[in-house]
Amino acid sequence: LVSRKKKPENTIVNIKGEKIGDGNQYFVMGPCAVESYEQVAEVAKAVKQHGLKLLRGGAYKPRTSPYDFQGLGVEGLKILKRIAAEYDLAVISEIVTPADIETALDYIDVIQIGARNMQNFELLKAAGQVNKPVLLKRGLAATIEEFINAAEYIMSQGNDQIILCERGIRTYERATRNTLDISAVPILKKETHLPVFVDVTHSTGRRDLLLPCAKAALAIGADGVMAEVHPDPAVALSDSAQQMDIAQFNEFMEELKSFQRQM
Ligand code: PEP
Ligand code: MN
Repeated sequence: LVSRKKKPENTIVNIKGEKIGDGNQYFVMGPCAVESYEQVAEVAKAVKQHGLKLLRGGAYKPRTSPYDFQGLGVEGLKILKRIAAEYDLAVISEIVTPADIETALDYIDVIQIGARNMQNFELLKAAGQVNKPVLLKRGLAATIEEFINAAEYIMSQGNDQIILCERGIRTYERATRNTLDISAVPILKKETHLPVFVDVTHSTGRRDLLLPCAKAALAIGADGVMAEVHPDPAVALSDSAQQMDIAQFNEFMEELKSFQRQM
């Protein structure tokens, strides 16, 4: 169902009027984790100032260590809902268990399925059964074929509102947190009719690489870029080393806008 051979034209994922896949390039910005109303509001203001509409923030955090901050759970979703209403934004947040899919419908505009759950087939099926856009991330060590099959699981249940997100894969290289597989973008665009985003934060794990990798993503034809922004990354409860602060975010957006004009 996701194959371009079955459907030659692009699927448009409609998120509160933003038509992802229409040829424009979109930005999903926001903190790694929702930590407080004030923290998210500060980022929301900056996002608004750049005329952007899509805000991210994790409420259920799939952390490598059980002793690390696990997210605010439904309290985090409530903060996102309030922010979305107050700032007229669309909010994206990861859901990690099929039981929370129904709950999520009331609070968020896009369900994110994270890298660690790309082959959680029950979660994929549950997300396929609801009327809500899904941002599906590539698994940590998933081939492109496995990634496409994960999207197929969602669409086979009836939901065609899927955005694919390349977020780096695990290789022997240690200079970056993961290896950004930039060629996955045109391959996914060719093989499927779904929009494709690139998450520059989790693929690189390095603040100094966010801008060049975002430029590469835009140049290679990605439909959107995701990156993490936190008012004070030094005290962030997760991904402290790679989130941008507001000043860096402003610079990042200005640079990307002028890059887009040159493209
Ligand atoms: C995230 O986007 O918050 C996240 C945990 O990313 P990933 O699933 O790609 O590791
Ligand atoms: Mn993160």
